[in-house]
Amino acid sequence: MSIQQPYLLTPGPLTTSASVKAAMMKDWGSWDQDFNTKTAEICQQLLRCANASEHHECVPMQGSGTFAVEAALGSLIEPTSTTLVLVNGAYGKRLVSLLTRMGRDCDVLAWGDAEAPCARAVADRLAASPEIGHVAMIHCETSSGMLNPVAAIAEVVAAHGRELILDSMSGFGALEIDAQRTPFLALISSANKCFEGVPGFGFVIARRDALQAAQGRSHSLSLDLHDQWQYLKRTGQWRYTPPTHVVAAFHQALKEHAEEGGIAGRHARYRANMQRLVAGMRQRGFTTLLDDAWLSPIITTFLSPAHSDFDFSRFYAELKARGFIIYPGKLTEVESFRIGSIGQLDVRVMDQLLAAVDDALATLGVDDARPCADAVALN
Ligand SMILES: *Cc1c(COP(=O)(O)O)cnc(C)c1O
Repeated sequence: MSIQQPYLLTPGPLTTSASVKAAMMKDWGSWDQDFNTKTAEICQQLLRCANASEHHECVPMQGSGTFAVEAALGSLIEPTSTTLVLVNGAYGKRLVSLLTRMGRDCDVLAWGDAEAPCARAVADRLAASPEIGHVAMIHCETSSGMLNPVAAIAEVVAAHGRELILDSMSGFGALEIDAQRTPFLALISSANKCFEGVPGFGFVIARRDALQAAQGRSHSLSLDLHDQWQYLKRTGQWRYTPPTHVVAAFHQALKEHAEEGGIAGRHARYRANMQRLVAGMRQRGFTTLLDDAWLSPIITTFLSPAHSDFDFSRFYAELKARGFIIYPGKLTEVESFRIGSIGQLDVRVMDQLLAAVDDALATLGVDDARPCADAVALN
């Protein structure tokens, strides 16, 4: 199967298979039974992926991932409740922005970009703050690539009788999550990350009792998760125009996800990609922001070389000319860039990328890829 260049080494949108792209070559009526069946099958399969069929429902929401996060926060959290947000990067900060914009009370526990949220600190804050009803956190913090310790924190949240809301946008589909073992009120993800669909909708896997209680609560008409859920249940249709071609592509993407062995199969391929990438980059003198224990199979942050001839936009352009799109850094403290390992990529592509990195560095005249010492000291 030929895939059009360039390869997207980014955290979504990402490189999709030719068959996923081909699934978009047909027009669908949004009221058509065949289309409604696709929606229903997608929701059932997503629930199965999280082992959440028993107590949860899957509600798709038009828009990018953030729209689904906004829908979940605005619909599932009581307006009188305070939400504790765990922040160790840009996506954690976005949760705070969303809640603040909606006028919801939030409390923040923050760590550095290269630090993991600490379950002990969460336990202490929950014990001291009875007004906190929910804890919201990021599964894989895409701004650094850190795999946050969700299991440990979920355990603490449950032990204190609070509810967990998990933004697993860049993780679900490749990171194992089991609703029976890791209790969550809601898990949010989208079509264009580890399930390898194209952008256009997100989805919320939310506990049925919380969805039922959410009637009339949302600040927004179009982002009302309860109404979307009820309308889907009643009619089989999305409440407003669905991204039909995107849904058809996602249906195909889920079929390919299952054929690859589901989450375990996908995790294995992404992990092999990341390991090949990190080993090759380290061989060339590059340094990862994070210690090995926190590296995710999703995306990796590399510190920029200290060499005076290194310039990210030139490095980017040289890699792009060779068929690879990488991602700028999203850290405030140090110069960095990111390379993703998700999408229709395998270790062969990673080897090609590493060869392109050699060419790009040679063109720039950078013969030493080590970062400056104080950037390393940060991690
Ligand atoms: C991609 C992503 C989002 C959503 O971003 P959109 O640009 O709205 O799709 C949210 N959280 C995390 C952790 C992400 O990686």
